[in-house]
Amino acid sequence: ADVTEKLGESEALATLHRVFGYDAFRGEQEAIIEHVAAGGDAVVLMPTGGGKSLCYQIPSLVRPGTGVVVSPLIALMQDQVDALRALGVRAGFMNSTQDFDERRVVEAEFLAGELDLLYLAPERLRLDSTLDLLSRGKISVFAIDEAHCVAQWGHDFRPDYLALSLLGERWPDVPRIALTATATRATHREITQRLGMPTARHFEASFDRPNIQYRIVPKADPKKQLLSFLREEHAGDAGIVYCLSRNSVEKTAEFLSRNGIEAVPYHAGLEAGVRAAHQSRFLREEGLVVVATIAFGMGIDKPDVRFVAHLDLPKSVEGYYQETGRAGRDGLPSTAWMAYGLQDVVQQRKLIQGSEGDEAFRRRAASHLDSMLALCETAQCRRSQLLAYFGQDPDTPACGNCDTCLTPPETWDGTVAAQKLLSTVVRLQRERGQKFGAGQIVDILLGRKTAKVIQFDHDQLSVFGIGEELAESEWRGVVRQLLAQGLIAVEGEYGTLVLTEASGTVLRRERDVPLRKEPPKPVVSRSSASK
Ligand code: ADP
Ligand code: ZN
Repeated sequence: ADVTEKLGESEALATLHRVFGYDAFRGEQEAIIEHVAAGGDAVVLMPTGGGKSLCYQIPSLVRPGTGVVVSPLIALMQDQVDALRALGVRAGFMNSTQDFDERRVVEAEFLAGELDLLYLAPERLRLDSTLDLLSRGKISVFAIDEAHCVAQWGHDFRPDYLALSLLGERWPDVPRIALTATATRATHREITQRLGMPTARHFEASFDRPNIQYRIVPKADPKKQLLSFLREEHAGDAGIVYCLSRNSVEKTAEFLSRNGIEAVPYHAGLEAGVRAAHQSRFLREEGLVVVATIAFGMGIDKPDVRFVAHLDLPKSVEGYYQETGRAGRDGLPSTAWMAYGLQDVVQQRKLIQGSEGDEAFRRRAASHLDSMLALCETAQCRRSQLLAYFGQDPDTPACGNCDTCLTPPETWDGTVAAQKLLSTVVRLQRERGQKFGAGQIVDILLGRKTAKVIQFDHDQLSVFGIGEELAESEWRGVVRQLLAQGLIAVEGEYGTLVLTEASGTVLRRERDVPLRKEPPKPVVSRSSASK
């Protein structure tokens, strides 16, 4: 045993130091690990990035035998195993990406007791051959990752997960730990029941990050808005700026540097050496800004990141939470700031529709985007909405520290505006079989005789110029909010606006449409910004 253990340190803590090189457990990790290492079952709800892996990795190392990890994320297994092996942990995986010989090697290692951890895809566990193999070796722990996949009414249901209840029947003496980052109370109960873990202890980490201030502003001139934000609130601070494309990463980093803010780009298209250099500068230096695609941040544990800024809309609330969660790990006040506009929605829809995934994938992606939009357009406390999304206490009081709490948005009765907008879409679609994007619709409403309006005779429509009471930015706000409320949809390569089933309820005056007022035009920095 090494010296630290003799000083009375627990084996779990010693493993954390020796194998993983970390100083201390985070949050509930220690309680979870002690419980499972002692042979207890556990159901763990912890946000992404919260440190779930250690909760089963350390018990697997501390207990005799191999920890068997069931995970649907086949694409990540190789990386996870490589990372563990780099730390000296004896890890292997079995899934459909392997050929027969590769699998044979892993099987032999398992049977010889030479594996600390074995990752398996859930469909493997339906095979008698796998169960037979597992019976012939020694298992320390079963870990069921992404456990919400067992919930039949959830987004991510996987039939293979239902078979996991047999683990408890066949191996009653092996502790099981089920982990997930998304679960409502009902899903939590379903996990416990379907996996057959009635005596499991429940651990529920809070998703709240009270020191992070959430703010979402309408996008006007995003680079300049970002610059003002940094100059006014985060001069000299370290932070991360997320952009969707490599190109905008490069451009934004250049723009910031030219305006006196130390910034470096980070994306998968950069040479590995450059990437590593920028990452290590970020970890080492105090006030560096990294402008990055979402490739940046996995496993980054810098405590004093003071802000995370998004110049483009994240694809899901999970993504937003995970990315903003990289701010303020030291517990000091930090900002999650985002600029978001109608174009983001159009672009994301386009990406989803053009993606290679199947229909189910596209539906899931679309519903993730809808939840993200709802968060952007909410007039309620953003933090309460985030926590509610993750299934935490739905009655969380308003936080007093997000933009909607600090400057509550005024609402107005947008029923008539919504009717005007939807009627314009109806006129084009029903009478002329035409579909146009938000730009053209707004031009028609404002009565603008643009070349494109003239070209299509849109100045002859009865709705031409019926929306002059609102400004263009206000109309764009109406479109965004109708999108977020599902009262209109956007489709196709050109982001055309189309009616939804719910549009009819507005057109038939069956419902009111409360909308939030667009905040006043963003103040562009007093100091000059060079383009
Ligand atoms: P999850 O699976 O919950 O999304 P991970 O297990 O991948 O989260 O952990 C997220 C990051 O936090 C990883 O980089 C991990 O190494 C790091 N981490 C986890 N626990 C600790 C700890 N106690 N101390 C320092 N870093 C930790
Ligand atoms: Zn709030």
